[in-house]
Amino acid sequence: MRRHRQAKIVATVGPASSSPEVLRSLFEAGVDVFRLNFSHGTHADHRARLDAIRAIERDVGRPIGVLLDLQGPKLRVGTFPDGPVQLAVGDRFCLDLQRDLPGDRTRVALPHPEIFAALKPGAELLIDDGRVRLRVLDCSESHADTEVVVGGTVSDRKGVNVPDVVLPLSALTPKDLADLDYGLSLGVDWVALSFVQRPEDIDMARAIVGDRAGIMAKLEKPAAITCLDEIVARCDAIMVARGDLGVELPAEAVPAIQKRIVRSCRRAGIPVIVATQMLDSMVAAPVPTRAEASDVATAVYDGADAVMLSAESASGRYPVEAVRMMDRIIRNTEADPYHREALDASHTPARAETGDAIGCATRRVATLLDVAAIVAYTSTGSSALRMARERPHSPIIGITPLQSTARRLPLAWGVHAVQCEQAFDVLSLSDKACDIARREGFASAGQTIVITAGVPFGTPGSTNLLRIAEVG
Ligand code: PGA
Ligand code: MN
Repeated sequence: MRRHRQAKIVATVGPASSSPEVLRSLFEAGVDVFRLNFSHGTHADHRARLDAIRAIERDVGRPIGVLLDLQGPKLRVGTFPDGPVQLAVGDRFCLDLQRDLPGDRTRVALPHPEIFAALKPGAELLIDDGRVRLRVLDCSESHADTEVVVGGTVSDRKGVNVPDVVLPLSALTPKDLADLDYGLSLGVDWVALSFVQRPEDIDMARAIVGDRAGIMAKLEKPAAITCLDEIVARCDAIMVARGDLGVELPAEAVPAIQKRIVRSCRRAGIPVIVATQMLDSMVAAPVPTRAEASDVATAVYDGADAVMLSAESASGRYPVEAVRMMDRIIRNTEADPYHREALDASHTPARAETGDAIGCATRRVATLLDVAAIVAYTSTGSSALRMARERPHSPIIGITPLQSTARRLPLAWGVHAVQCEQAFDVLSLSDKACDIARREGFASAGQTIVITAGVPFGTPGSTNLLRIAEVG
């Protein structure tokens, strides 16, 4: 069962999509990776969803990726027992650490001492996705006096963003550590870190995760954008988290940053997801706006590995329709000759390494001979990613002996992952590649495929062989 497109679809699972039937329909409609959002739901909810996804995987015989998305240090105000308060421009409003005092129209608790330690007069605090803006006039280790710059309603536990300050907060909160431990014990394939600020945040996660899952950084803080390339160099994938990014920065700054992040990831050869509000109107309507369709297509023309659905699939009325729509937009975009031109024009030179040299050469061969498929033998997945980095015009089949690799690769552009025991000599390697390409619906008798592998087998990072074979 092959998908006839190269960009991938990530869909968030939530109340609208938790039953085994809906999950199955979502997979059939085109989902490559399911996202479990640990900002919502209980461990038992996530476990049931993961079990259902693994049952589909067994049933259809295709590896399916599962992404655990950690909440991260999301800041929230306390509560207002007498109801929401209205703040008007010019009002004074105080934030403090007194979480036992009920909030009112003069103050509310912000139970995060680290914030007060880092705040400076002039910094802005954004409440409820930036709907209300407060400017700090004066602050201490336990409070901040602010002036309301943009007024509005503030209610219980609304989120707070502090874009101007690098917060002395770890990207992993105590809740995240517990969620991570649980998710890793269930066997998720990818872990996403929210509100990453510095490259060291990735190292900290890596020390815990090891090689049990791929590590993805969600870029949603201005501080992370200032050290973009260092973060990209240290993690295994990136999410352009446009929701919070567009709160912390003006909305008009998001498009250029999105494109910069995609370019940086393509240069490094790691998967990049464009996320949030892609088909947002489909939360309530069976069709998207034309602007949303165009947004998905833009990410595809830019060569992003994947596009993502959040509320559309987690809590919307049309989860399956949203996936079908995304699938159709991607296939239409990829059928446009300009798509190929755009990918070629944005291609960046590979590094002077054997693996990348094989990748470049394979791409040339694939174009010249118009091959039916590129077969990459890969243990860690890295050779398949080096191949995807080239954005070749033929589909890539990533053959791996490891289930963990087979489940991580569905996120990568153009890669169809197949788990299969190791081939042991160059001859059986060729036969096996032809068999799999035929069986998976990529090639028929008489067609040519190109194969890459590292010999001797089982040495990660040893890709050194390029072979051209005719399917028998
Ligand atoms: P979230 O992340 O949905 O977990 O907030 C994505 C975003 O901020 O865009
Ligand atoms: Mn976010």
